[in-house]
Formats: sequence, structure tokens, C-alpha cells
Amino acid sequence: MGVTAAMEWLGSCSGCEIAFLNIGEDLVPLITETLDLVHAPLLMDHKYFGQCGEGVTLEIPDAVIGIVTGGVNNREHLTVLRQMRKKCRLLIALGTCATHGGIPALMNGQDQQASWQAIFKTVSTDPGAEIPEVEVPPPLDRVYACDEKVKIDMQLPGCPPNPELIAELLVAIVEGRSPVLPGKSVCDTCPARREGRSVVGKVKRFIENVEFDPGEPVSGMRCLLEQGFMCMGPVTAGGCNGGEGVPACISARVPCRGCFGPVRKNGNQLLDMMNGLASNGIDFKSVVDRRSILRFSGAHGRLRPLKKRVAKE
Ligand code: SF4
Ligand code: SF4
Ligand code: SF4
Repeated sequence: MGVTAAMEWLGSCSGCEIAFLNIGEDLVPLITETLDLVHAPLLMDHKYFGQCGEGVTLEIPDAVIGIVTGGVNNREHLTVLRQMRKKCRLLIALGTCATHGGIPALMNGQDQQASWQAIFKTVSTDPGAEIPEVEVPPPLDRVYACDEKVKIDMQLPGCPPNPELIAELLVAIVEGRSPVLPGKSVCDTCPARREGRSVVGKVKRFIENVEFDPGEPVSGMRCLLEQGFMCMGPVTAGGCNGGEGVPACISARVPCRGCFGPVRKNGNQLLDMMNGLASNGIDFKSVVDRRSILRFSGAHGRLRPLKKRVAKE
């Protein structure tokens, strides 16, 4: 019998759950021998309020390991997260939505009421529609990372996280050892050729072509940041390559978009990237939408609506 584990998803797109399934062949021994899954909406039919809806309180069984994906966007997410904290001895935040707010926290940069109006009442969708109030959990004032609401014991970011690292984390916990996870940045695992200075001095638009020789390995390609592309490798946690090999986007000759969140625990990808651009000789004012650098890490109060400017008399 394995160690009991419960999984839950909050504001999740299910990509983290697919990453769990993408563990592949190793998933079978993981969920049949290493773990004893007692609750996982992705994999098993275990209802919140009894199997026939007869319960009146949320039922999540006790488990040694709890895994939550997604950020905390509404009152239902908050209730489920608190219940997971109560029922699980060790709680893991899995995926960048859970660790740093992820894509849903982009909403934190907008006025919430205006966003809801736009989502539910735009003429392009359903003219005259109302913002629903029945059977839709009320939103919180913003999107939160899980550790802003409950104590989180371990975090594994990624959008989605790397399946090999998910397996390593879970097996290490069960074996009572420290998991072998990359503690470096994407740049630290990138073989692209660096010469220490940008060739252009300003950020290029994403639609421009990267310069590389298709016949050459990535190690022969000039660093994308030095080519002038907004590659967020310097400020983004490594791991998308499973700890070795070329980072996923770089292997496709595409700049890193920052999906693993900041390298440092309380790092700010926006501020760190401004420094990164400056030290590569790139004018940060050439970045058109600087706040978009927080596209994966807008929780923890990083991304807020812009204050309205009051015109001077
Ligand atoms: S981290 Fe990415 S893959 Fe996971 S739930 Fe969020 S958006 Fe989806
Ligand atoms: S900035 Fe991008 S291309 Fe350059 S080394 Fe870092 S990850 Fe690689
Ligand atoms: S290269 Fe950057 S954006 Fe691409 S998968 Fe890796 S961490 Fe995410």
C-alpha cells in the first residue's frame, strides 16, 4: 500500500493535470505502488458532497500528501484549498498558477468590475447578458497564489510543470529524501552562445525572425536576448527541460516567456528583467508593455490595476 495522496484543482486549465498524466509509463507504478490516491477529480469519481450529493459539507479524505493546482480566484477555490490544507499533512502547490498566480493573475492588472463587465456583457458575445450571481462562486478581489492563503510546504512551478520533476518530487517525499530539482535559471541550462552584449540595443518585436542556422545545434545560435528578443531566461526558474538538455522554447528557437516564474523565491520577474535588459545593453523603454513581463507571476500583489491619472487643472 502506498502513501495516501489527494489532488485538487482550483483555478486550473487542466494542463498541470495533463502534465501529471504525462509522467507516462512511470505513472503506473507511481499511482499503484508508491501512492495510494484517495481523491483526485482528474482520475477518479470522488464527489465533494457524497457520491450521490447527499452530503452537506465538503468531503476530502485525509491524506499524507496533498497536491493543488491552479490559483485561488473565487470563494469555492478558497474553501477547497483550506479543506486540502486541513486534510493533508504535506501540501504541494503544483504549477505556476498555484505558485505565482499564472495566466489567470493577468486579471490582477485590470479593474475587476470592468473585466467582468467585458467578459459577460460585451455585445460581441451575448447582448444584454447579466453578470451571473446564481451557482457561480463569487470572485475574490484578485487572483491569489496558494501560499497567500494557506501554508504551502513545497512548490513545483511550470506552465505546465515538467512531468519528470513531478514524479521525482513525489517519489522523493515517499522515500524521505530531498528531491533533486533544478535550482537554477533557464539561462543556466541554456547552451546558446553568449558574447555579453546585445547587438541591437533595443527589444525586437516577437514577429521578427530569430537568426540561426537550422543545421547547427542550439549551442551555435547567438543568445536570443543578445539578438534583441525579450528572452526571460535570466529571470525564470529552470526545469522545463527536466533538469538537463535545452530549455523547451529555446530548443524551438523561441524566446523564453517566463512560464516557470521567478528564479528566487520572492523574485520579481519585472524588476529582475529590467536589470537583465540593462546589463545586456538593451534599453528597457523599448519594451512596449512592460507589465506583460509579469504574465506568469502576477499574484503576491505584483500586478495591480494602473491608477487612473488625474488631469492637472
Ligand atoms: S500552470 Fe499552466 S498548465 Fe497549470 S493550470 Fe495554470 S495555466 Fe494550466
Ligand atoms: S537569454 Fe535566452 S537564449 Fe540567452 S542564454 Fe538565456 S535562455 Fe538562452
Ligand atoms: S523556456 Fe521559458 S517559457 Fe519556455 S517552457 Fe521553459 S520556462 Fe517556460
